[in-house]
Amino acid sequence: MSQKFHTLSFKIVVLGESAVGKTSILLRFYRNKYTAEIEPTIGATNFQKIINVGDYKIQLLIWDTAGQERYHSLAQMYYRGAKGALVVYDVTNNDSFEKAKEWVEEIKNEGSPNAKIALVGNKIDLPNHTVDKNEAKKYAKENNLLFFQTSAKMGEGINNAFVSLAKSLPLEF
Ligand code: GDP
Ligand code: MG
Repeated sequence: MSQKFHTLSFKIVVLGESAVGKTSILLRFYRNKYTAEIEPTIGATNFQKIINVGDYKIQLLIWDTAGQERYHSLAQMYYRGAKGALVVYDVTNNDSFEKAKEWVEEIKNEGSPNAKIALVGNKIDLPNHTVDKNEAKKYAKENNLLFFQTSAKMGEGINNAFVSLAKSLPLEF
C-alpha cells in the first residue's frame, strides 16, 4: 500500500494541570525548541506534525489548551474525535499526579470510547522526584494506559511518547 495514497490522520489532545509542561512538550515535539517562560494562557493551540511509522505517514493533529485546564472547563469539542490523549503530570508535584488521574477519568467519560491514553511524567530533569515512578507505572498498567517519562527541557522521551502513542492507535482509513 503506497503512502502516496494514504495518510492517516489522528487527533491527539493534551491534558493535565496547569504548569506541568504541556505546552513545552508540544513545542519540543513540534519545533525541537524549549522556552523557559511561557504564559499559561499561551497554548500551542492546534498544529499538525507528520510522522513516519513503518510504511505509513501519520498526520497528528495536536490540540493544546489555552489555560482553561485551570478551571477544569474544557469544552466538549476539545475531546470530540480525539483518538489519543497525553495526560501529563509533573514528577515533582504529587498533586499534579492526583489531578492526572482525574483527567484520565474525564477523557474516558467525555472522549471517544476507544481513545488511547498515554500517562506522561514530565520534568524528570529536576531533582527531588516526589511521584513514585513504580506507583505511576502500576496505575498506568491497571488503567490500560501507556506510560512515559519526559523532560521538555532536555528533549528527553518526547518523540518516543508521540510515536509510541501513534503506533498504538488502530489503523483505519
Ligand atoms: P502548561 O501550563 O502545562 O502548558 O505548562 P508550560 O509548558 O507552560 O510549562 C510550565 C513551566 O514549567 C514553564 O516555566 C516551563 O518552562 C517549565 N517546564 C516545562 N517542562 C519542563 C521540564 O521538562 N523541565 C523543567 N525543569 N521545567 C519544565
Ligand atoms: Mg500551556
